[in-house]
Amino acid sequence: MLISGENMKKKLHRLLEYKGLKRLLKSMRLHVFVMFCLIGIVPILLMKASLLNNFEDQSVIQRGDMLRNQCNNLADRMGSSVTDGKLEIEGFATEMEQLANLYSGRLVVVNSDFKIIEDTYGLDLGKILVSEEVLKGFNGESSLTHDKERRFVELAIPVKEVVGKNVVGVLVVSSETNDIMQNREELNRKVVILQIGLMLAVLIAALYATGILVKPFRKVAQSLDGIDGGFLEEDLLMLDYTETQVLSEAYNRMLRRMKTLDDSRQEFVSNVSHELKTPITSMKVLADSLLMQEDVPPELYKEFLTDIAAEIERENKIINDLLALVKMDRSASDVHICPTNINELIELILKRLRPIAAKRNIELVLDSYKPVIAEVDETKLTLALSNLVENAIKYNNDGGWVHLSINTDHKYFYVKVEDNGIGIPQADQEHIFERFYRVDKSHSREIGGTGLGLAIARNAILMHRGVIKVYSEEGTGTTFTVRVPLIYAE
Ligand code: ADP
Repeated sequence: MLISGENMKKKLHRLLEYKGLKRLLKSMRLHVFVMFCLIGIVPILLMKASLLNNFEDQSVIQRGDMLRNQCNNLADRMGSSVTDGKLEIEGFATEMEQLANLYSGRLVVVNSDFKIIEDTYGLDLGKILVSEEVLKGFNGESSLTHDKERRFVELAIPVKEVVGKNVVGVLVVSSETNDIMQNREELNRKVVILQIGLMLAVLIAALYATGILVKPFRKVAQSLDGIDGGFLEEDLLMLDYTETQVLSEAYNRMLRRMKTLDDSRQEFVSNVSHELKTPITSMKVLADSLLMQEDVPPELYKEFLTDIAAEIERENKIINDLLALVKMDRSASDVHICPTNINELIELILKRLRPIAAKRNIELVLDSYKPVIAEVDETKLTLALSNLVENAIKYNNDGGWVHLSINTDHKYFYVKVEDNGIGIPQADQEHIFERFYRVDKSHSREIGGTGLGLAIARNAILMHRGVIKVYSEEGTGTTFTVRVPLIYAE
């Protein structure tokens, strides 16, 4: 079914909206912002409840203290007016009335028979009142209770005889707490305004702080966007925080590594083109010179064609070496590891190279100190060691010698390739493992070198997590040592 243009637009729009939402939800700024708000706003919300409850409790205690002060005095005076163990309250009625009015409450006096003998409301006079507070009062304790639902506090105070200190009655005072609740409401309103103000402040602070936090990331992104195919000429500097400084340093290091890599890649490509072009140029010169001459004798044809064949052979060798190098550069998935008898592997290499050595009367000797079985990629290790032995023959004098030795311990095996050939000058030793590096270009080319042999050998050994080293003295000879783990580590 064909989708109309309008429909497409809508779908695209929805997709973009969805992507934008996804980006927003994943943003670090949003996460930190939410965290900030939670940390800042939750205590502000909790603070309100505890502040209001605390205010109410304190007000009730204060009200209780005020009632106690006034009523203790009244109870004491009632106690001193007791005659024959009988509580008389006639003289206190007016004072009780005044107190009741003052605290918008009610005062009740209960005698030792739990009978109400005075009630400022006049409602329960003569009735029996037995409550927990009254009983506590007869035990000599005064008590204060707060009824939040019905909004009042109640204070019960024992009335004691002056002589003998017997409890002859209990004075029960109750007072409304409506005013306290009104004050609480008033406070609540103020606290809500304060809360809104504080929350706004937290939101603004969170927005500002998260903005500062993600700024360095934006800076990095902008710098990266600035790399337009090439590399930054200047270092990226973000000294605002220790973390951003660490980040910028790591970033600069990475850029430098990438630049070095890019340089070496470019150099490699130009070397490859140059190396591949040289045999072709020679072939062209040889062919052209034959074509330009009339009546060329067959011997000359033969001679030139032999030279052309040699150049083709050379081109072939360079291509093969390049392929070997490229293969070695690829990931570890190309490695075929299996337990291999290293002694036999080296014997085979020597068997193949012996005729070449014999041509120049060079002696090839192998010392196998111990039998070695190791987990290696047979083809790649053979290539590496062959290159070392070939070099020891190639860069030797006629009638010279090449000594090989194999040894092992519990962790590694060691191969040493030693010759008494022309040696390598000190200054060149650190470069010989580089691709296309040759100490003496024309000599190397003459004897069929491509400048890739040691690079291949080094890559193969490194791939086995091994180490290759060179010791050499010009005019005396060269020794290559190789150390490879017996067990292959991924
Ligand atoms: P090539 O194909 O030219 O031999 P290599 O990468 O194998 O390239 O070696 C690099 C250079 O190191 C050689 O050109 C040579 O100058 C020097 N070299 C390598 N092995 C030896 C050796 N055993 N004795 C002296 N020089 C050597």
